[in-house]
Amino acid sequence: MKFALVKGIKAEASKGAKGTCPSCGSELIAKCGEVIVNHWAHKGIRNCDPWWENETEWHRKWKNNFPIEWQEIVQFSKTGEKHIADVKTEKGWVLEFQHSYLKPEERHSRNAFYSKIVWVIDGLRRKTDKIQFQKILEESSKAPVGGVNIRQVNFPENSRLLLEWLNCGVPVFFDFYELYKSTLWFLLPLNIKDKAYLIAFSREEFINVHNNNGFDELVYNLIPKIQGFIRKYERNRNQIRFVNPSRRRYRRRF
Ligand SMILES: [Zn+2]
Repeated sequence: MKFALVKGIKAEASKGAKGTCPSCGSELIAKCGEVIVNHWAHKGIRNCDPWWENETEWHRKWKNNFPIEWQEIVQFSKTGEKHIADVKTEKGWVLEFQHSYLKPEERHSRNAFYSKIVWVIDGLRRKTDKIQFQKILEESSKAPVGGVNIRQVNFPENSRLLLEWLNCGVPVFFDFYELYKSTLWFLLPLNIKDKAYLIAFSREEFINVHNNNGFDELVYNLIPKIQGFIRKYERNRNQIRFVNPSRRRYRRRF
């Protein structure tokens, strides 16, 4: 963890320091080395939060884009279950920075636990993801929505990472930092079978929109408009397919 409580105050790990876990209250030891990022660790056990994943430099960079008061926030459910959110914004959005693979059922539990959740996915964990993602973007076509760079993915099955997150039901952003430095790829929540639309989303804008509490407007106003447009477009495409000449001839025979 980036923070422990030292004398009741959130503090980062420094050599030889001791602190307590803001979630379970047990003692934490500062781990400061050259190979992994400075962090706090529980004595003996992995982490009191089974959802916690070991932090990488990538996690840290993301967290550091937001105020300290928003980072590593302990969240409780009505039944007393608790987890540490990577970042929780003033508007209640939990930003989860996900490096490792998550089973669908684990993802569902987290989506349910944090009602307002946004996933930011490390696209560079597996070597193949980068290559596959580049390919689906090359094979994609521009969706007919004015003013926004939306890619209609024609072969979503060519990206394992995309398939893993398709129909997640909540906002998902893919981060291929070395490849697309200033862009995150936002997977538009659609719930249309086998359909994927990706929106080029400025990294800076993503950070700013949360820091300025503008994400609600995006999720509850702008995204539904785009979803509506895409759904209508998909319906029309299907109709075109339905009334194409060869199909019509086929139908007339009966
Ligand atoms: Zn703990």
